Formats: sequence, C-alpha cells, structure tokens
Amino acid sequence: MPDIDLDRVRALVGAANVLTDADAAPALVDWRTVYAGDALAVVRPGTTDEVAAVMSWCAEHGIVVVPQGGNTGLSGGATPRGTRPCIALSLQRMRAIESVDAAGWTMTVQAGVTIEAMQEAAAAADRLFAPDWGARGSATIGGAIATDAGGNNVVRYGNMRDQVLGLEVVLADGRVWDGLRSLRKDSTGYDLAHLFVGSEGTLGVVTRAVVKLHPAPQYQQSAMAALTDLDRLMDVFALARSTAPDALTAFELLPETGVAKVCDTFDLAHPFATRADFYVLVRFAGTRPVTDLLATFLDDASAAGLATDAAVAATAEQEQRLWFLRDELPPMGLYPHQAEGLKLDAAVPIERMVAFHDAVRAIADELAPDALAYGFGHVGDGNLHMTILPLTDDDVPGFRAAKPELTRRIDEIIVGLGGTMSAEHGVGQELRSRVAAQKPPVEWELMRTIKAALDPDDRLNPGVLLPE
Ligand SMILES: Cc1cc2nc3c(=O)[nH]c(=O)nc-3n(C[C@H](O)[C@H](O)[C@H](O)COP(=O)(O)OP(=O)(O)OC[C@H]3O[C@@H](n4cnc5c(N)ncnc54)[C@H](O)[C@@H]3O)c2cc1C
Repeated sequence: MPDIDLDRVRALVGAANVLTDADAAPALVDWRTVYAGDALAVVRPGTTDEVAAVMSWCAEHGIVVVPQGGNTGLSGGATPRGTRPCIALSLQRMRAIESVDAAGWTMTVQAGVTIEAMQEAAAAADRLFAPDWGARGSATIGGAIATDAGGNNVVRYGNMRDQVLGLEVVLADGRVWDGLRSLRKDSTGYDLAHLFVGSEGTLGVVTRAVVKLHPAPQYQQSAMAALTDLDRLMDVFALARSTAPDALTAFELLPETGVAKVCDTFDLAHPFATRADFYVLVRFAGTRPVTDLLATFLDDASAAGLATDAAVAATAEQEQRLWFLRDELPPMGLYPHQAEGLKLDAAVPIERMVAFHDAVRAIADELAPDALAYGFGHVGDGNLHMTILPLTDDDVPGFRAAKPELTRRIDEIIVGLGGTMSAEHGVGQELRSRVAAQKPPVEWELMRTIKAALDPDDRLNPGVLLPE
C-alpha cells in the first residue's frame, strides 16, 4: 500500500476506529482463510454521516472501498485485494436496532446488526425475522443484503431479497440515498432498493434497512429422517410440502459422512442407531400445532418406503441438538484442508437436484478419487452445497492438480442443468472468473452499465462479482 496520510480519516471517525497493522489483520483474511489481502486501514464509521464523509474522502483521493460486515462471507467478497490503494470499510459499529414496528410488521436497523440480534429483537415483539443460518451470530444484515443471503428458512419465507422493504445507501461519491421506506407497494418506477440486494458492495454501502417481520410461530417441531434412497429425495420433499404447505419452514439434506464427523468432532451422540447414507432435517412451524402434521409426514414417508427411521425432537433442547448437526456441517473447522477444497453453492431447478448431486459425485470420483466429496444443504430450494476436499497432506498436490478440470466440468454441469453457481453466497472473488457462461452477454452488459453509472471510477469493491 502506498503511504497515504490517514489523519483526515482519523479526524472523521476517531483515531481508535482507523485500524492498521496487526489490528487490521483479522479483517484482511476471509472466514475460510482462502483469501487474504491488504488495505491502507480498516475504517469503522459509527453513523451514516461518518460513512458519507469517509466515502467523500475516498472519492477525492481515488481510494478503493471494500465494505465489510461480519466477514463471514464464503466467496471472498469482503477481503480487500490490495492491488489498488484501498480501505476496508467495516460497518461493525453501526449496530443499532432503531425500531421494531409490531403493528406494521417491520424492523429498521443499522447495517452492522447481526442476524441473531434481529431474530431476538423480533421475538421479543412476538414477531419472526425469518432469515437464519449457522453464522447468525456474526453475519450482519448489511452483508446479508449485499449477498442476497438465503439460509434454512428460504423454503417458507424466501431469501433476503424477499425481506427487504427499504434501504439507506451511501453512494460512491458520498451522497446518501434515503430509500428507507416501509411501503408494501410502490409502483413509481425502478426498484432501487432491490438493485442493491446482491450487489456485493459494488454499487454503494448499505447503512440502514427496513425489513419485513412475520408472525412468530407458536408451535414448532423438527425431525431428522433417514432416507431409504437419495434418488427419492425430492419425493420426500414433495410429501413434506403437500403435508404441510404453510408449515414446512426448512428442508435440509445431511449426509452421514458429515453428521458422523460433526458427532466425532464435538463428542456428540449420533441420533441414529442404524446409520443411513443420507438424512433430511425438516422443521414444521406455525401458529397452529404441528406435531400431528409432522407425525403424518413421517408415517407416510415410512409407508411409501421413502424413510427407514426418524429422530423426532421432543423438546426445544433436542431440536437445538439436531440443528447443531446442520449448523456445523460446513467443512470449516471439521477438516484441516478445507481451504484447498472446492466449495459449491450451486442451485438447480429442484427436480434436477439429485441428477446434479450424482453428476458431481461421478466427476469427483473420476478426477479426485481420494478426495472427500459430500453434499448438504438447502435442497428444498434446489441449493446444494457440494464440498470436495483433500483429506491428507499427501493428497493435497494431486487435488490441486485436478482442481481446475474438476471445477470446469462441474461448472459445465451447472450451466447445462439451467442452474446457478451462486445460490446465496454471492460471486465474490471466488466465482468471478467462472460465472460468465451462466448469463447471456447482454445481461452482463446491462450490469456493467449500471455499475458504471453508480461507480464511474470503479472504486467500489472492484474485483468481485462482474466477470473480467
Ligand atoms: C458457518 C457459516 C454458515 C453459513 N451459512 C450460510 C447460509 O446458509 N446461507 C447463506 O446465504 N450464507 C451463509 N453463510 C455465508 C455468510 O454468513 C453470508 O454470506 C452473510 O450474508 C455474510 O454477511 P457478513 O456480514 O459476514 O458479510 P461480509 O462477509 O462482511 O461481506 C459479504 C459481502 O457483502 C459486502 N458487504 C458487507 N456489508 C456491506 C454493506 N453494509 N454494504 C454493502 N456491501 C456490504 C462485502 O463487501 C462482501 O462483498 C455462512 C457462513 C458461515 C461462516
């Protein structure tokens, strides 16, 4: 990084909120430790006015801005590249829940509030803030909006785009766009708020948001069912959905490989005496009792030969234990060479889910036979996280050599099945060189036109999202 005087920035946000050297280090590497970069400083404004002032300073000095929330993103989008003078702009100090409007079914928050804090604030007002996933305690609403995050409840409540009503955004030149409206309907032209959803910090810095709240479920129960045959996975999903069209809030695939590893790592009892290759973890929830519905679903699944066994959570604590298995399934923390691995966040039309899983397995078996390959995740949304990684030090060189061809062949499958390479994690640095084939050239041209209009100097998170 060149030597740029940061005294003006210190004056804008306070010297304690301009981190350099060792203090900045944690923000310069991503959660998976796959990406690392450099920046002049990590700047931590506390208000929208401070964000605007910092953005004006950056515009004046031609400084690149990489917004950062909880730094839990899985695509390297929040890691500064350091190839141009840049700052990481952390929203972590903007943690106010400004209002919970129970009557209007909305919540207004600053961008640095965590998903978990929003869930808790909604619950205290007898409402539900629906988004939920393993990183809930660290991931921020700003990051979730910027990646159009999904998670476990999408099957019932939709993804982040479906939750956002209005936004406040600081633009590249420091102007503030106040679109913080809670209107349910507004047909006066382009939907700017949703333009920023999924924009990965490339169009502006989200500073505040108004999101939707839903009725808090009075009843909720989860069960894990052992599948007879993965080929019939989507029959199990169809059955769950038809049994409880409004109450099915999560439908997740868990492979035995991952469940056993989580149990071993955390010294937990495995929920099944007789192991299956795959399980689904389902949650039924709503304002009416769900126990009978869940029992009907499991009985019908068993009668139809779809499931061999089930573990039903009888208490909230047991339910938490089942969901812990799902939360801990991602390979970070489970496998030493996870950062070498190939992480997929693909979605395909749901009827092609099993074909996708099997095709990826076949390619992995062919090109990286010693690697561990397992798929898990939000199959109710057609979104499967396949993970392929080397297990031992000795396997790493061979895996590295196979990875480019592995990646190319899998991407071809995704495009061929009409899918997407990023269902919920964003493109970031990770998929930037791979996504081009997924959309027609005119679509990328339109996106570039929008980017150039909002960020003519290409200073907002360059090097992510748009293919080179
Ligand atoms: C264990 C684990 C499980 C996960 N499970 C899921 C899951 O099930 N579903 C899912 O969708 N994600 C999941 N994630 C990924 C991650 O939590 C989400 O992508 C989340 O939305 C990132 O939020 P963040 O605040 O950490 O953002 P960051 O990682 O800090 O940033 C992510 C992107 O958003 C941009 N950004 C951040 N804040 C702003 C802002 N205020 N304005 C503009 N741009 C901004 C960054 O520049 C970057 O491009 C998981 C992550 C982990 C570690």
